[in-house]
Amino acid sequence: MEKTRCLIIGSGPAGYTAGIYTGRADLKPILYEGEQPGGQLTITTEIENFPGYPEGIDGTAMMEDLRKQAERFGTDVRRGYIVDIDLSQRPFHATDDHGVVIEAETVVVATGASAKWIGLESERQFYGQGVSACATCDGYFYKNQEVAVVGGGDTACEEANYLTTLCKKVYLVHRRDELRASKAMQHRVLTNPKIEMCWNSRISRILGNDMDGVTGIELEDTKSGAKSEKEVTGVFVAIGHKPNTDFLKGQIELDEQGYIKVKNPSSATNVPGVFAAGDVCDPNYRQAIVAAGKGCVAAMDVERFLQNNQ
Ligand code: NAP
Repeated sequence: MEKTRCLIIGSGPAGYTAGIYTGRADLKPILYEGEQPGGQLTITTEIENFPGYPEGIDGTAMMEDLRKQAERFGTDVRRGYIVDIDLSQRPFHATDDHGVVIEAETVVVATGASAKWIGLESERQFYGQGVSACATCDGYFYKNQEVAVVGGGDTACEEANYLTTLCKKVYLVHRRDELRASKAMQHRVLTNPKIEMCWNSRISRILGNDMDGVTGIELEDTKSGAKSEKEVTGVFVAIGHKPNTDFLKGQIELDEQGYIKVKNPSSATNVPGVFAAGDVCDPNYRQAIVAAGKGCVAAMDVERFLQNNQ
C-alpha cells in the first residue's frame, strides 16, 4: 500500500492545476490520469480561448504542458485509473486498475464529464472534422457557414443562439415537436431569424469525406420516417453531458444529474477531506479556464484542510 497526502483523480485542467498547486505546497500528490489522459481538451481541435495563448494552441499540446508543469513540482502523474474507492473513513483507500492500493489523507475528484453522443458511425468518423460537442470551443471555425445543432435542451438552444453570431444559418435538429429548454431560451431560439427548426427529426447519417470533412446531414422524420438532406459543414451535438461519477455512487452527495455537489465557493463535498473541481461538479460553465481555476481552489482547500486536521 502506498500513502499520499493528496490523491488527485483526473487529468483535465482541473486535475493538473490541482497537481501544480499541491505539488508546490510540497504535498507530493499522486495524480491518476484516467481513461482519457488530458481529458476532453485532447479531443477538441485548436483552443483559442484559453488566456495566454494569443495564437491558440492544440488541445493535446496544452494538456502536455499542464502535465509537465504538475510533474515539475513533484506531482506523481500515473497512467491508469481508480476502479474502487472507499470514502467512508479517513484516510481514504483507493484501488487503481493494476490493483495498487493508495491510502490518501485527502482526495480531489476532477474526473470531468463526457459529452453524450448520438451513437452514429459517421459521428465518430468526422469527430474533430466537422463534428463537435462544444460551440464555444469550435464555433469560430464555422464563420459564415451553415451548421446544425442537435438537441432540444438549454445547451442546444444556447449553442444554436451563440452560433448565429458567427454562422450564416443554424439548423436546430430536435427529435420531438417541443423544446425541453426554458421558456426564455425557447423564445430566443424561435424568434432568431438565423435558426431553422427541424422538428421531429433525427440525424440518421452525417455526410462528408476525408478531404472536406462534413458536407451535410441526412435527416429522418421521427414520425413518418421520411428522409431529407441539409448541406452543412458543422454538426454540434448538444444532447447533454454525463459527469464521470459512477465510481463514487453512494459515497458522496451527487445532484439528480450525477454531478458532485460542492459547497460553493469552496470545492468541499459533503465528505470532509474530499474535494471536487472542474466539469465533474459544474454543469453550467464547462470551460477549461474555469476548471483550471477550480483546480486551484481545490488545492488550496486541501492545504487548509490538512493544516486544520493534522
Ligand atoms: P438536457 O436538458 O438533458 O437536454 C438534452 C436534449 O437532448 C433534450 O432535448 C433531449 O431530447 C435531447 N436528446 C437526448 N438524447 C438524445 C439523443 N440520443 N438523440 C437526440 N436527442 C437527444 O441537457 P442540456 O441541454 O445539456 O442541459 C443540462 C442541464 O443544464 C439542464 O438542467 C439545463 O437547464 C442546464 N443548462 C442551463 C443553461 C442555462 O440556464 N443557461 C445552459 C445550459 C444547460 P428530449 O427533449 O426529447 O428528451
